[in-house]
Amino acid sequence: MRDFDYTRAASLAEARMIAGEPGAMLLAGGTTLLDLAKCGVAAPTKVVDITYLTGLDAIKVDQQGAYIGALAKLSHVADAAAVRENYPAVSESLWQAASAQLRNMATIGGNLLQRTRCAYFRDPQAFPSCNKRHPGSGCAAIGGLTRNHAVLGTSKVCIATNPGDLAVALSAFDAVVHLGDRRVAIEEFFLLPGMTPEREHALEPGEVITAVTIPASNAARRSTYLKVRDRQSYEFAAASAAVGIELAADGRTIRDLRVALGGVATKPWRAREVEKALIGQTLEVEAVKRASLLAMTGAVAQGDNHYKIELAPRIVARAILKVGGLA
Ligand SMILES: Cc1cc2nc3c(=O)[nH]c(=O)nc-3n(C[C@H](O)[C@H](O)[C@H](O)COP(=O)(O)OP(=O)(O)OC[C@H]3O[C@@H](n4cnc5c(N)ncnc54)[C@H](O)[C@@H]3O)c2cc1C
Ligand code: SF4
Repeated sequence: MRDFDYTRAASLAEARMIAGEPGAMLLAGGTTLLDLAKCGVAAPTKVVDITYLTGLDAIKVDQQGAYIGALAKLSHVADAAAVRENYPAVSESLWQAASAQLRNMATIGGNLLQRTRCAYFRDPQAFPSCNKRHPGSGCAAIGGLTRNHAVLGTSKVCIATNPGDLAVALSAFDAVVHLGDRRVAIEEFFLLPGMTPEREHALEPGEVITAVTIPASNAARRSTYLKVRDRQSYEFAAASAAVGIELAADGRTIRDLRVALGGVATKPWRAREVEKALIGQTLEVEAVKRASLLAMTGAVAQGDNHYKIELAPRIVARAILKVGGLA
């Protein structure tokens, strides 16, 4: 770990000003930033601590939707009664993230900006080739061990998975990321790697995430987050799904359906093909299983991660049947 200057930001304006300087990085809970600095991936020359800024940790839910401040802790959001009631998938995605200690430190803004768990990315000394760390240096993962890598949204220069859980639930329910006055829809906030995998999100230098809002919907109220992983706690998703449903008055016709996938793609992945296939249809086990296969439209396996193409549709189907009351 190298030396760096530390500033405790006294205002959002000061945080933005310093964060815009070359080599500067914001510090929130520190659970990702310090890890990355220790393993040599991040090398900030200035660290701007935003944890003392007031007013950025609010959690408010009303009839229009939810407002979650960027400095709200994962554990507080997961446990907020109004979030549990109106956005169960959001609460469950947070409960299943990391460990209790990490959830007590980590913030919503920092969670959205966590970096990939690609083992090659996180070990610069052993693996100098990584297009995300050093554009143009190659990709050590392609042709290597790819069990945790993505099958959707990959490019020929990067196949790293986005590891976040919360972002998947936010994608299902059309959340908006607030960067002060600028608002970015969650689907546009995360970028595909294309030929520039070093650019992961729409944040510009000097911008700070101030909040996330999620519109209210019946589908969000009747939702779940299903995460499958190698062990039942303290582990990233092998594959996951955030699903919400609204049924018509007959209790069987699907009026609205939201499906987003985690652990399988280079960004949180909205599975619109599944939604389109089922909206307006009768909720029925075989139809749900058939439609769930569409979640893998365009998927490309990279050796060891082939199992995700089978696993993810099963998770999607299970989650839809669960929120629909059929499982
Ligand atoms: C062992 C381990 C297991 C984990 N398991 C999971 C898991 O299962 N699921 C999951 O989703 N996550 C998991 N995580 C990731 C964890 O949730 C993140 O580390 C955490 O949410 C990051 O939040 P933070 O506040 O600590 O961010 P920090 O480490 O402080 O910051 C992370 C990044 O975001 C930037 N940043 C922070 N806040 C802002 C802001 N408001 N505006 C702009 N930039 C900002 C920082 O500059 C930095 O680049 C795990 C982490 C660890 C260490
Ligand atoms: S998959 Fe992406 S992050 Fe991993 S080594 Fe290749 S370029 Fe780097």
